[in-house]
Amino acid sequence: MASEYGGMWKSLGMDLGAHDQLLAVLGQGYTDVFLSQANRPKGMDYFNFVMSEVHGLRIKEMLEAREQGEKIVGSYCVFVPEEIVRAAGATLVGLCSGGDFAMEEVERVLPRNTCALIKSSFGFKLGKVCPYLESADMIVGENTCDGKKKSYEELNKLVSNLYVMDLPQTKSENARALLKAEFVRFARAVEELTGNPITVESLKKGIAITNAKRQAMHRLEALRKADPEPISGLDALLASQVSFYDAPVRFTESVNALCDELEERIKDNVAVFPEKTPRILMSGCPMAVPNWKLPWIVESSGAVIVGEESCVGERGLRNLTDDSGQDVESLMEAIVDRYFKIDCAIFTPNEDRADHIVQMAKDYKADGVIQYALNFCQPYQIEAMGLESRMEKEGIPMLRIETDYSPEDAEQLKTRVEAFVEMIG
Ligand code: SF4
Ligand code: SF4
Repeated sequence: MASEYGGMWKSLGMDLGAHDQLLAVLGQGYTDVFLSQANRPKGMDYFNFVMSEVHGLRIKEMLEAREQGEKIVGSYCVFVPEEIVRAAGATLVGLCSGGDFAMEEVERVLPRNTCALIKSSFGFKLGKVCPYLESADMIVGENTCDGKKKSYEELNKLVSNLYVMDLPQTKSENARALLKAEFVRFARAVEELTGNPITVESLKKGIAITNAKRQAMHRLEALRKADPEPISGLDALLASQVSFYDAPVRFTESVNALCDELEERIKDNVAVFPEKTPRILMSGCPMAVPNWKLPWIVESSGAVIVGEESCVGERGLRNLTDDSGQDVESLMEAIVDRYFKIDCAIFTPNEDRADHIVQMAKDYKADGVIQYALNFCQPYQIEAMGLESRMEKEGIPMLRIETDYSPEDAEQLKTRVEAFVEMIG
């Protein structure tokens, strides 16, 4: 990829040497984790291609669209309303935050005990290795957990185009009013960025594109309820991860094509894992690319992951936006309603999340839940302790894992996961 896109990356101000190293590690990781799986659906070829070109063709495509006037908005959180970005004729991309990079430099600006996700996003900036970040016309930060909101103060010193969105911390009426006010302010900001006014028609279009993407993913999730499973949890996770990068219409078509194939597989009893393989629901922190360590350990320990209660998974994709409103005001209300239901652990109290985990465990016939939190992530770590007693009451076995992106604890994690799988099997 290097020779073909070197000029493009250079023009974005990236560090080509460091970027080559990153791509080599990514490529090897992808081969080991994904391409080594047996009996993958043919429809995964599309995702393999997207991943092989994730810093190449996709960036080229976005930069070409930008020459035609399409702005690029980068985000770190599923609270950034995609419908509004699309309504203003811009494209939304998720920013890299799933792997360690330039950690020495990061620890000069952030405390060592900051979660891996935040440190990763700084590493990609300080190491100059993320073409999405370097291409973005607007980077959206959001005041969610304390780590994120304070680190955006530091990120603001490193970039010139950070837009920070305030987010509520409760589900009260006042909190909803804050979210609405912030979404309206964000809509004004993207209108200003793009020069495109947001209208009823453009909002309806933005909602339609985003809902179609979610509906395709809901279809994929539903097919994972089958036993035996027609697709691995790793591949389904990959589809969720790619949803943050690829052009939405193409992504939707590709997921639907994959689902057609999976329906056939279920009919013909073609599966990736044998029937009665222990079924695991993953729950917790988001797993951005290339954070594949734990899912890989789980699926190479004799279990199959049947669902993700995560922002890279059902928490981020659950619920559609009602498109029946006939004016901008009611469509904006519908968007607020949809996002206000996201049960991120920054909310207090957050009983809905526990209810969702129980519901998902039942719907997906999970034999156990693995609750995953990044080291130093207080919201998910603290919530995990309460979840443990709730799951016990519900009779759902749960394993609590705290880890980061480094490979150092892989052996120890494998031992714990294998013991859990044996217990629920
Ligand atoms: S876990 Fe919370 S802060 Fe993180 S992406 Fe999800 S909603 Fe945003
Ligand atoms: S919620 Fe947790 S994982 Fe997410 S940014 Fe904050 S500390 Fe990190």
